Amino acid sequence: MTDTRRVPRTWPDDWDQRVGGDGCAMCAQGRPDEDELGIRVYRSDTADAYLQKADVGQRGYCIVIWRGRHVAEPTQLSDTEAGVYWDDVLRVARAIEVHYAPAKLNLMMLGNSLPHLHTHVVPRYVDDRDPGRPPRFMDPGAKTPALPIEEVRRDAAKLRELMEGQIAE
Ligand SMILES: [Zn+2]
Repeated sequence: MTDTRRVPRTWPDDWDQRVGGDGCAMCAQGRPDEDELGIRVYRSDTADAYLQKADVGQRGYCIVIWRGRHVAEPTQLSDTEAGVYWDDVLRVARAIEVHYAPAKLNLMMLGNSLPHLHTHVVPRYVDDRDPGRPPRFMDPGAKTPALPIEEVRRDAAKLRELMEGQIAE
């Protein structure tokens, strides 16, 4: 459909290229066991999951990242791939439930700044600051100090243990 209205573009000029994988940091990174943002707690043929180091007010915040060719949307996966990826996400989410006992889990596929398929798994707690609403740390420009690293490492070890046998080293 051709839209002849003149509207100011708000998304980056190179957005289509980024959706196609140009300069994709999640493809280029090579999935290390740890980076500045997180510690890997899960790895399969189709996904990696990283426990985040930032103190976003939601202890246990993990990001599950599609492993394989560059994919921006879950709609680009085959039905089989989508099913396997969902299994990955649920495996991580269940470990988070067991370890952190949250009041609610938020599973979010956004990718509005980095369009490589990934899912935010965000445990919510009865004392968090945004009851009934999306987690505030998703707001652009939100400040995120680091959690004590030893606490993150302990939690990462426990999550790995809960998903034992799922991490192919
Ligand atoms: Zn990518």
